[in-house]
Amino acid sequence: MYLNRIQFQPGMAIPEFLSHFGTEAQCTKAIKAARWPSGFRCPRCNLAEHYVVGHGARKLFQCNGCRHQTSVTAGSLMEHTKLPLRTWFLAIYLISQAKTGLSALALKRQLGVSYPTAWLMHQKLNSAMAQQDNVHQLSGFVQLDDAYLGGERAGGKVGRGSENKVPFVAAVSVDFRGHPRYLKLNLVSGFTREAISKWAKAHLSPQTTVISDGLGCFAAVADGGCKHVPVVVGARRPRDLPQFKWVNTVLGNLKTTLAGAFHSLKYSKYADRYLAAFSYRFNRRFDLRELITGLIVDVARCRPFKEDVIRVHAEARF
Ligand SMILES: [Zn+2]
Repeated sequence: MYLNRIQFQPGMAIPEFLSHFGTEAQCTKAIKAARWPSGFRCPRCNLAEHYVVGHGARKLFQCNGCRHQTSVTAGSLMEHTKLPLRTWFLAIYLISQAKTGLSALALKRQLGVSYPTAWLMHQKLNSAMAQQDNVHQLSGFVQLDDAYLGGERAGGKVGRGSENKVPFVAAVSVDFRGHPRYLKLNLVSGFTREAISKWAKAHLSPQTTVISDGLGCFAAVADGGCKHVPVVVGARRPRDLPQFKWVNTVLGNLKTTLAGAFHSLKYSKYADRYLAAFSYRFNRRFDLRELITGLIVDVARCRPFKEDVIRVHAEARF
């Protein structure tokens, strides 16, 4: 019943989305409202008084004080874009509807843009999601597990430490009723005490109670001021226990979703962004309408990325 309530909630259908964000004027207005919720401010001198130069999608705001000219997208993820804003908004919509953020190829087909364009948009939007989710830390009770992407690839050895696998930690906070709240999926350099220590300091609030299996490195969550509760039960795999129900459910869903969407995914390159898209969506699953409008705000407020940075291989942060 609990999952049904989430799965059958009303989202936002395409016609409704287009009625709100189908024109350049509507998209411009939405970005302006997201970036300057209390009204426009000059990015140089912070003056509110300004006038508008030009018209349409490329109109500029000129400061009455210092004469600085800026556009609605300058200094944001969408700066210097040659695409109509409504194409960006449609991409945001499509990505928000897909559990792992939709593949770049699907985006290319649905938007009618070139593959390199779709690819870059895809990377930028996923990066915006990752950046936003990294702001928050998990707290309360957290189920923690080690996991790999690409684990089924032929040639790898079975079990922990196999080759051709991208290691990541999966952590789900649960509320007092035992229901899942928030999710973190973060790449790690390996399952070492050092990596888990760094991860815990970045992603867990002090005083968090962390439940994991007996893997030694997990004790390092104590470095982040957390209480560690290892669960080790004889021959039975600890992850089959109810204490790990939600982290296992999430990992199962992730695996199914990735298997369906990305047949030839180079996990080692862009794994962090796919994981980010998945957890971003999971963390906002209670309100699918808010997920869309919230992503518009997050993208509008996200600082620009340089293309060469985007293309650098995603490396473990911890
Ligand atoms: Zn100014």
